[in-house]
Amino acid sequence: MARIELKNIVKKYGDGFPAVNDVSLDIADGEFVILVGPSGCGKSTLLRMIVGLEDITDGDLLIDGKRVNDLAPRDRDLAMVFQNYALYPHLTVGENIAFPLRLNHSKVPESEIRERVQRAADMLELHEHLDRKPANLSGGQRQRVAMGRAIVRDAKAFLFDEPLSNLDAKLRGQMRTEIARMQRSLATTTVYVTHDQTEAMTLGDRVAVLRKGVLQQVASPRELYEQPVNLFVAGFIGSPPMNFLPARVSGTTLQLPFGEVPRPEQVDGSYEGKLLIVGVRPEHFDDAEVTEAPEGAATFQADVDVTEWLGNELYAYIPFEAADETKEQLAELDRELDGESLRSQLVVTLDAMSGVRDGDRA
Ligand code: ATP
Repeated sequence: MARIELKNIVKKYGDGFPAVNDVSLDIADGEFVILVGPSGCGKSTLLRMIVGLEDITDGDLLIDGKRVNDLAPRDRDLAMVFQNYALYPHLTVGENIAFPLRLNHSKVPESEIRERVQRAADMLELHEHLDRKPANLSGGQRQRVAMGRAIVRDAKAFLFDEPLSNLDAKLRGQMRTEIARMQRSLATTTVYVTHDQTEAMTLGDRVAVLRKGVLQQVASPRELYEQPVNLFVAGFIGSPPMNFLPARVSGTTLQLPFGEVPRPEQVDGSYEGKLLIVGVRPEHFDDAEVTEAPEGAATFQADVDVTEWLGNELYAYIPFEAADETKEQLAELDRELDGESLRSQLVVTLDAMSGVRDGDRA
């Protein structure tokens, strides 16, 4: 197992904009850290620098306190699982799993190789398939072989690059729990790249959010959700995403596009007359006809454009027209968030029993 420290890591491809910009992150021994962010934010680049597949332009990478910037990938003793599995098609499942042991310069005896492959196959329920070739396996089984190849040797850490993105939703859910179980039982330091919200929120001890190569926040999933440090993290974490509404402070009220709500405690008198962006999670709305409003709750009526019924809940989309004076503010937010947030509509998550339908005024 290993502690992995990134100190002011920079990556520049050619002389362009840095793909990774001054990232510092200390990953504890046995910790499970998730790297998330929009496409192109530099998460794969960061992972590839850790494993040694990409040179580090600037900064220090330490594994167990030792600087490894210039160490060849095979000498870093890390196991990487790729999105496309990278299995050898001409080798059987057993031979694929055994591959890293046979490559190893410290010759592992054949009897031990057999034993270790068996153990990995048992853990991943692959024992029945050891003699088959990858072409004859399902996507989920191939993914397990790729994981078997990672766990067969006692690597210091596991690095996963979107390992489940080629699987269908159901299998992804199953494999996600398997990865969680495996990591918990082996307690091996793990860095996991994904853009999947559920994987990010359920797998990691901590989640690191990247944007344009810059680390925005590193925190537990719960802290990210409840205390995002900026609008980007607030809008990126959570699905459906947080609603951003323009608001003006007026006395003891906040004026929103749908009407007034009481001014929250955190917004003191010094904000009087100012324009603010108010973030409200979709699940913090209820259908007033179905759920009794708690004390102090504000109620409003709005026209529902589209609804999506998901069985356990219902999403309602409500377009809103921002007041002219707030349009510039919203445009600025748009620029700041690269159009990644929803602005001219509100998304609310309602009880599945809610009778709200497309075109309703609710
Ligand atoms: P995705 O989720 O789409 O895989 P990512 O967050 O993993 O994205 P990276 O693949 O790390 O992002 O890419 C970060 C930035 O570096 C992008 O702007 C990308 O175009 C650029 N980049 C990546 N690899 C190279 C390369 N070999 N040469 C030049 N630029 C590259």
